Formats: sequence, C-alpha cells, structure tokens
Amino acid sequence: HLYDAYYKGENAVKEISSFPRLHLAQLPTPLHHLPNISALVGKNVYVKRDDLTGVVLGGNKVRKLEFLLADALDRGCDTILTTGGAQSNHAMLTAACCGRMGLNSILVLKKRGIWEKKGNQLLNDILGADVRFVDTDSYDDVYAEMKRISAELRAKGHNPYCVPVGGSVPLGSLGYALCVQEAKEQATALGLAFDDIVCCTGSGGTMAGMVLGTMLYAPATRVTGIVVDPEDFAPIVADLVNGAQELLQCSARISPEDVNLYDCYGTGYAIPSAAGVAALRLMAQQEGLILDPVYTGKTFAGFLELCEQGYFDESENILFLHSGGAGGLFAIDLEQTEG
Ligand SMILES: *Cc1c(COP(=O)(O)O)cnc(C)c1O
Repeated sequence: HLYDAYYKGENAVKEISSFPRLHLAQLPTPLHHLPNISALVGKNVYVKRDDLTGVVLGGNKVRKLEFLLADALDRGCDTILTTGGAQSNHAMLTAACCGRMGLNSILVLKKRGIWEKKGNQLLNDILGADVRFVDTDSYDDVYAEMKRISAELRAKGHNPYCVPVGGSVPLGSLGYALCVQEAKEQATALGLAFDDIVCCTGSGGTMAGMVLGTMLYAPATRVTGIVVDPEDFAPIVADLVNGAQELLQCSARISPEDVNLYDCYGTGYAIPSAAGVAALRLMAQQEGLILDPVYTGKTFAGFLELCEQGYFDESENILFLHSGGAGGLFAIDLEQTEG
C-alpha cells in the first residue's frame, strides 16, 4: 500500500511547520456542502473554497507562494521572476503577493492567447506589475529570457529568485499538503471524512501537495486530478510528491502508477471546451458558484464524467477543490468553445 511506509513509522518526517512560511492567505478557507449538485450526482459533494484565499480574486497559488516567497526572503532575494500564459492566475497572484511583501516582481509571460488588458492583464495593470512578453510557444525560450533578466539584475546588485510556471516545485506543494490537513479538520468538525478529493491538474503542484497531504494526514482519502493541459502528468506529479518527501526527509516514494488522473482538457490548454462551459453553467445555476473555463470548469466537467462512469461509490463523501480562476473569466469568450 502506498501509505505503508508512513504507518510503519520508519520515516523521520520533518514537520511542514518547520519550513519558513508567510501568512498571505486568509485561512482556513470555507468548506461547505453542495446540496443541489449532491442530489444530481447521488453523492455527498463538498467544496473547498480556495477561490476565497483572500488575495485579489483568490485562487490556489497563494498557498504555494506562502512557502516560495518565504524561501526567497530567507535567501535575501529582492526580485521574484515568474512565468505563465498571458492570462496566468499564478503570475498575477505572484505580483500581488510580492507587492504585499515589498518584493519586486517581473512576470515573463508567453505572448499567446488573450494578452490585451483584459482579465488577469487588467489586474496586472492595476497591480503595477512589470510584465515582459516573450513571443514563443516554448517555456524553454521563456526560461532562457528569465535567466538573461536574472543575470542583468545580478549585475546591477540585485538578488533575483525564479519561480517556475504555476509555482509547481516541491516546496510550493507543501501548501497543498497543509490544505488537506485544514480540510480534514473541517470535515471532522462536520462529523465526516472524505473518501475522495477531486482537484485540477494544470502544472501539477496542487495535486502533488494534496497527494502528499493525504499520505500524511488522511491516508484513507483518494486524490484524483482532472488534467486540463495535454501533458503526461503521472511522472510530473510523482516527481513533485517525491521531491516534497525529500524535503521532509521521508524515504517513502511513489511511482507514476500511484497518481490518479482523468483527462478533460478538450482541444487544449486554455481553450474553452463545450463540456467545461456546460459544467460551469451548471455549477453557477445550481449552487451560485462561479467556476472558470480554463481550470475549474473543466475540472468540474471531469468530475461529472467520472460520476457517470461509476468511478465513485454510492453515497461517498467527495471534496471538490475550487482553485479560483476568476481573473481569467473576464478575458475569455465562452461562445468560442471547441472540443
Ligand atoms: C494554476 C491553477 C490551477 C492548477 O493548479 P496546478 O498546481 O498548476 O496544477 C487550477 N486552478 C486555477 C484557477 C489555477 O490558476
């Protein structure tokens, strides 16, 4: 069993609380029942409201940035470089969190999709973010540009810190291990335990944190990631989990086969899908909750498909992670769906 190593107590696990961490998010985020969706799918569906993490319009990246920016400050860094697509929620939240901490930030973004001042670009403008576009399809080009800017900054006496796309490095994932601990305490207070957690897999760090979190705090809970970007995430997520376990000085390792994934990206990343848009309309009309077409709408669509396929047992308690995404919602044309 995946969790046996923990039960045996042969792993001296370093406490996550021993890592430097900033308090950027308003925690705990609410966790509540979704009565109409529950009735519709015949399960007990709850939502973890990480769309309410309390920075700008909320979202999952704040939990990762609590660890990443603490690490940057610990290392005496003064400028944070990060990347993403033009409508990156992660980049926008990085700029906002850096502003709060008195850190400079530079967002090196792919000049793809909707890069005019709409959605997250409008928020970046309000935040006074330093946005530099790279006209490329490849993150290799973006990272090369980040390297070039970093060297330039160093020559001027600055100390830059690079956060890769989505903040999906083992250290950032620790934030989502703690989210599982938080959700478990909330569930216990409600007199229930979750059989399943369903979350979005966009760059993998959130899911990796949740897998690690269940291993540490809720070993009976299964985590399933709904994939919104056509990439082979099983090895990526396994590497992130194992990297985080290394940070915790824990010898247990998982393999890609231990990672539960379900593809629901439609035609491609950030291209609204018919299923995703239908799912976000359903959530809005049934529960008054707004999802987004890039991440959470597709994740909810994947969840509904899994329900139809009998992936979950009858009357299970399921936690759906609302990871945010409101910023991008106002940039995208929902009528232009594909797939
Ligand atoms: C980044 C993001 C995700 C995906 O999280 P990863 O850790 O990158 O897999 C999901 N939802 C929203 C709203 C995001 O911005």
